[in-house]
Amino acid sequence: MSKYKSYKTTCSYCGVGCGIIAKKDPKGVITVEGDKDHPVNRGMLCTKGMNLHHVVQDKSDRILYPEMRWSKGHERQKVSWDQAMNRAAAVFRTMIDKYGPDSVGFYVSGQCLTEEYYLVNKLAKGFIGTNNVDTNSRLCMSSAVVGYKQALGEDSVPISYQDIELADCFMIAGANPAWCHPILFRRIEAHKEKNPDTKIIVVDPRRTQSCDIADLHLQILPGTDVVLYNAIAKRLIDKRKIDKSFIANHTDNFEALKASLQDTSLSEAAKICGISVVDIKKAASLISNAKGFITLWAMGLNQSSIGVNKNNALLNLSLLTGHIGKPGSGPFSLTGQPNAMGGREVGGMANLLAAHKDLANETHRTEVANFWGGKEISPKPGLTATEMFDALESGKLKAVWIICTNPLVSLPNANKVEKALKNAKFVIVQDISYRSETTEYADLLLPAAGWVEKEGTMTNSERRITHLNKVIDPPGEAQADAEILWNFARKMGYHGFDYNSVEEVYKEHCALTKGTNIDVSGLSYSRLKGEGSFQWPVPTNNHPGTSRLFLDKKFYTDTGNAKFVIPRFTKPTSELLTEKHPLILTTGRVRDQWHTRTKTGKVNRLLTHIPDPYLEMNQVDAFLRELKDGDVAVVESKRGKVQVKIKVSDSINRGVVFLPMHWGKVLGNDFGRANNLTTSIVDPISKEPDFKFSAVQVSKYIKP
Ligand code: SF4
Repeated sequence: MSKYKSYKTTCSYCGVGCGIIAKKDPKGVITVEGDKDHPVNRGMLCTKGMNLHHVVQDKSDRILYPEMRWSKGHERQKVSWDQAMNRAAAVFRTMIDKYGPDSVGFYVSGQCLTEEYYLVNKLAKGFIGTNNVDTNSRLCMSSAVVGYKQALGEDSVPISYQDIELADCFMIAGANPAWCHPILFRRIEAHKEKNPDTKIIVVDPRRTQSCDIADLHLQILPGTDVVLYNAIAKRLIDKRKIDKSFIANHTDNFEALKASLQDTSLSEAAKICGISVVDIKKAASLISNAKGFITLWAMGLNQSSIGVNKNNALLNLSLLTGHIGKPGSGPFSLTGQPNAMGGREVGGMANLLAAHKDLANETHRTEVANFWGGKEISPKPGLTATEMFDALESGKLKAVWIICTNPLVSLPNANKVEKALKNAKFVIVQDISYRSETTEYADLLLPAAGWVEKEGTMTNSERRITHLNKVIDPPGEAQADAEILWNFARKMGYHGFDYNSVEEVYKEHCALTKGTNIDVSGLSYSRLKGEGSFQWPVPTNNHPGTSRLFLDKKFYTDTGNAKFVIPRFTKPTSELLTEKHPLILTTGRVRDQWHTRTKTGKVNRLLTHIPDPYLEMNQVDAFLRELKDGDVAVVESKRGKVQVKIKVSDSINRGVVFLPMHWGKVLGNDFGRANNLTTSIVDPISKEPDFKFSAVQVSKYIKP
């Protein structure tokens, strides 16, 4: 008999959601391997996933007990959980009584498990009476959510990874899956190797590693995506390469879209995008010849001042060609975090309600409020991620509870976020490790359990729900996030939080979804543990899950048809370039780091790939500034500066520079925090920040 005990779980990094077998030896030492039976990764893991056990094993940075400042300006001291919870409840009660429920807020994370997300929302929206619950998923997915809702009637990814092996044309737009969703990319790569006629179009201002398998790389100028997709749409319409029957029977608004494109000139579009007319025609031709066409996109579209419009314009291509609601075809947004989708299922954003119900709909608010048995739910949308920190800075928001995220490094305009945290009356940070720079500003610091130290569920990018087993106990006095939240709710005197297990929370969530488009009332913990993962909806106890939506061509809109949405802005509304700040800064990820490096930063093996931040810059721009590869430069915007080494490259266009977003101010490199530079401009509908377009200047660093 093996001395190891094996537990099924899911990778805690990206939204691909790879299955992992965590093995525990008699001494409690954990090792990990890819789950060969998992439909997502079939045993494969990328470098981040295969090194997760190092993160678990190294406890040197863990927060082991609650710490509290007795008053501002004093050092935090160790306190008991009881003292910590009493203080949290006292502060929240005082703020709510004095300034109203909207004076407090929760800022959470796409790494939280679904049950934890559910509890935060129930607590804030159903009992405290504020919709001030937002998440770092606002920074990655909110533009796609709005795009789906407008076109398909609901935030619903139509297809699955299994469609990859059925498609013969992919458009990878504003994403670098080779580095950011590696196992998904391996599947595309393997599919192309087996089927060399498969065509791959990559749209990206940089020539990334994903371009290695591309038949066509459209290296557009940042922010010009809508112009490109509209030009392709125009070409498809003019050449009659559209699916007339699908458009006539299953869509609305085609004539309006056609009219809006009437004056679109391919040569003008090519000029704006910085590419050739030939390439636009080639893209249209590859799409029109496809039997199965999949669009895959991520932050390059979503993180923009016109992120929703970019989504609309890309979705229109799937609708024009009828490539939706059939195997091997469809739009497929990629989530950056492991449970961004699960969070949305339980209403984990300031403008959402649980079970995909609508905050603006009075009937929905009443249904959810009655289900919870708490207060009436306010119709007023809460503060979104950036609004929450603006409100802390202005003093409108008094207390914030930050769970499992590091806004000091991940939010745009980081110096402003720092001021906001300094100005807040009370900051609670609930996290696993001191590696989060945000812990520095905590008045109350709560130690949380990490991956494999607690139980719960997550949903990956393809609507697949998996159960994560608890394998080991958390260190010190750390507690599972769900437990911390229900203990707080009880201290506040709220009924309905008398859970004994996270399974009870999960059951309640499932019951609330009954009859909705995301119905998971047929999916119990015992099914998840016994039968494996399932894709929602799973409405009955013997339902096999749903790998594809809209096979009946019935969409979730008022008419049942998918809608062409005319992108309102075709010009970027991002920050203007000036003589002082003439370069476009775009930020993103590198292969072996994740988010703000609170986990990947402590794994030596992951530091061998790219150990330090760098600024990728075109060789001509570097030459004009007398900069060579490896020189230290100062990058400056209106909001701040960083010092960073230059990487001279011909993979990036002139006028554009790239800086990874992972490095913070306190840990690693003191000067590499990309968000010192980024703008606070957000998309007006999705409120997602524009991390892909900030005006900067770069100059040689001169020692003072
Ligand atoms: Fe984890 Fe994503 Fe890598 Fe899979 S692809 S192992 S989910 S980081």
